[in-house]
Amino acid sequence: MNQAPQPAGGLTEPVVLARDLTRVYEIRRGMLRKPDLLQAVGGVSFTLHAGRTLAVVGESGCGKSTLARMVSLIEPPTGGELRLQGSSISEVPAARRRDLRRVVQMVFQNPYGSLNPRKRIGDILEAPLHINTDLAAGEREERARAMLARVGLRPEHYSRYPHMFSGGQRQRIASARALMMEPALVVADEPVSALDVSIQAQVLNLLTDLQQQLGLAYLFISHDLGVVRHIAHDVLVMYLGHAVEQGPKKAIFQQPLHPYTQALLGSTPGIAAPGDAARQRIVLKGELPSPLNPPGGCVFSTRCPHAVERCRIERPVLRELSDRQVACHLAERFMMN
Ligand code: SF4
Repeated sequence: MNQAPQPAGGLTEPVVLARDLTRVYEIRRGMLRKPDLLQAVGGVSFTLHAGRTLAVVGESGCGKSTLARMVSLIEPPTGGELRLQGSSISEVPAARRRDLRRVVQMVFQNPYGSLNPRKRIGDILEAPLHINTDLAAGEREERARAMLARVGLRPEHYSRYPHMFSGGQRQRIASARALMMEPALVVADEPVSALDVSIQAQVLNLLTDLQQQLGLAYLFISHDLGVVRHIAHDVLVMYLGHAVEQGPKKAIFQQPLHPYTQALLGSTPGIAAPGDAARQRIVLKGELPSPLNPPGGCVFSTRCPHAVERCRIERPVLRELSDRQVACHLAERFMMN
C-alpha cells in the first residue's frame, strides 16, 4: 500500500485522507461471459489539509475524474479507505453520512450546463439551504445575497436567470452555490477549461481569495498545467489510474522525476519559470493503453522513451525521492547534481 504523503499544512486532522483508493468497474459483454474488470483508479493515496490545493493532473482517461467522484461521495470506492474530516466513509452511520455530504461540494467544468436555466440565481443559491436547513425564507435570501457579494456579483443579479450571464460570471455563480453549505472541501473538475483564457485568471483568483478567506481545501482536477502552476500547492500526476509522481508543486515543476511528468511539462509551452530544470520536449508515442488490458510492469512502459527490460517486468512502487514520491525505477537518473 502506498503511504499517504504529508503535505505542508500542520499536524491538524486532514480534510481528506485517501489510502490506497481504488475503483474497479465490471464491464459486461454478454449474458454468458464473465465480466471484464476495468480498474479506473488503482491504489491512490494522499492527504489534503484545510487551506491547501491538491491538483490532480493527467491525460483524459487517466482516472482523475473517477477519483474526484469518489472523493465527492458520488460513487463509492471498491477498495482502500477514504476519510473526510477524520470520519471513514465506510464506517460512518447513515445519519451522519448526510452531514458528511455537506462537507464536500463540487464545481463542474461546464458553467453553462450546471445551472438550471429556468431558475433565478437567488433560487439556485438558496436551494441547498432549502433542502438541508430549517432557515426561514428571509434568512436564506440574506445568505444568498451575501454570497453573491462574496463572489463579486451585484445585488441585482439575485433576480436574474443564468442565460443573462457570461461564462465567467456563471462559474462565479456555480462557485457561490457550492459554498452555500459552508463546505470544508471543494472538488473542482476542470472548473475553468470551458472559459476564455482572459476570464480564467479572474475565476482562479476568485477561488484563491475564497480559499484564503474561508480556509477551504480544494481538490482541483485539470489537464492544464499552466492553470495548475497558478493555483496548486501540491500535485498528483496520474497515468492509467495510478499515481506516478506526487508532492509539492514547486519540486515537481522545477524538476520532474517521472518521464510521464517530464513529457506533460515538456509539451506545455510557456509554463517554464526561473529555477526550473531545462526541459526536453518528449513527444509521447502511441495511445494511452486500454485500462482493460494494462501493460505488465510499469504502466507507462509502452510509451516511455527510457524503458528498459526491468520496466516491462516489475511494477515500480511510489517511493520517496527528492521531496516527492515517484514511481519509476530510473528516477535517480533524472535528478540534477
Ligand atoms: Fe519509464 Fe521504466 Fe521509469 Fe516506467 S519505470 S517510467 S518505463 S523508466
